[in-house]
Amino acid sequence: MVRDYRALHDPNAEYTMRDLSSVSMNLEASRGSRDVHITDVQTTMVDGTFPWTLVRVYTDAGVVGTGEAYWGAGVPELIDRMTPFLHGENPLDVDRLYEHLIQKMSGEGSVEGVTVTAIAGIETALHDLAGKLLEVPAYQLLGGKYRDTVRVYCDCHTADEADPRACADEAERVVEELGYDALKFDLDVPSGHEKDRANRHLRPAEVRHKVDIVEAVTDRVGEAADVAFDCHWSFSGGSAKRLAAALEAYDVWWLEDPVPPENLEVQAEVTRSTLTPIAAGENRYRVTEHRRLLEDQAVDIVAPDMPKVGGMRETRKIADVANQYYVPVALHNVASPVGTVAGAHVAAAIPNALALEYHSYQLGWWEELVEEDVIADGRIEIPEEPGLGVTLDLDVVAEHAVEGEDVFDEE
Ligand SMILES: [Mg+2]
Repeated sequence: MVRDYRALHDPNAEYTMRDLSSVSMNLEASRGSRDVHITDVQTTMVDGTFPWTLVRVYTDAGVVGTGEAYWGAGVPELIDRMTPFLHGENPLDVDRLYEHLIQKMSGEGSVEGVTVTAIAGIETALHDLAGKLLEVPAYQLLGGKYRDTVRVYCDCHTADEADPRACADEAERVVEELGYDALKFDLDVPSGHEKDRANRHLRPAEVRHKVDIVEAVTDRVGEAADVAFDCHWSFSGGSAKRLAAALEAYDVWWLEDPVPPENLEVQAEVTRSTLTPIAAGENRYRVTEHRRLLEDQAVDIVAPDMPKVGGMRETRKIADVANQYYVPVALHNVASPVGTVAGAHVAAAIPNALALEYHSYQLGWWEELVEEDVIADGRIEIPEEPGLGVTLDLDVVAEHAVEGEDVFDEE
């Protein structure tokens, strides 16, 4: 079959996947009684912890799928640009449509970055849609489940993030009042000892201050909770090794992103230098970039962000590679309940799930965005309803929509 590359790069071309011989083999098999066609794709941004980008895929069967893309400038525009590529396609061909969009958007940069993020939002909506059409929960589409509930870790913040006692007080409150047994605190906080934050070097007093935070929090709640600490790609390799070594005396669940994400050799050297578990992954895209991280044994725990990395099946593929290296998966997550529950379906369906992040405990209305209860006692019970099993409350979406945003059409 001859490919028409002009059609491939022309969004207005009458182009179907029949032109792509490499991924069109089973197209006809998906027709028949499940002959459903995509009619539209819409987005609405909600002003939450971040500008959450919700995505809906509409069909001629009257069934709508809802997903979420990681927040970021340009994501709704990219989804608009991809909508013509989905018109008339069968939403049940989730994997094929994912590859279709990756290929169609190659010129816009679908190897990594916001284009992958935009595709992830559509891919997640397709899982919701396919589950509803087939009347199975989304985890079933990923191979079934290993667990009925997924452990959630709470990303914690205090008014004074540099005060070890304030961090310990908040840790105790989140464990005792909110019921979590897994937490994360930022460790890239000002200590007052910095001379130049741009050079990535940690002075001894800065290392001692970070150890003080870790000691205060783990001493206070270490019996009741696992606690991770995030460095947001801040330090040099040498400083990261000194910090990780100093933390070996404490029960650190993991130390996250101590060095910048670009240089794998440095990442691997830091990880191999210490018994402190090192996690990374939220700034890498698709299975390809995570494959290198895992093959080089550059992490003890891999931390992809499902709505950012490429979606539910892409995260499953990353987990499969991680499992080849006996590496657990801690899903980074800053999403609304839609992306969070989608992440929980993935975490249910992979053997090596460690936990899923919750980043919005101080927002107040996070769970109101959907009609269902989502998190209870630091766990998400995996919905058994078809698709993702969450229903947007469109009144709440409208109430918190980013100014100027059109809210979704009704189903
Ligand atoms: Mg992080």
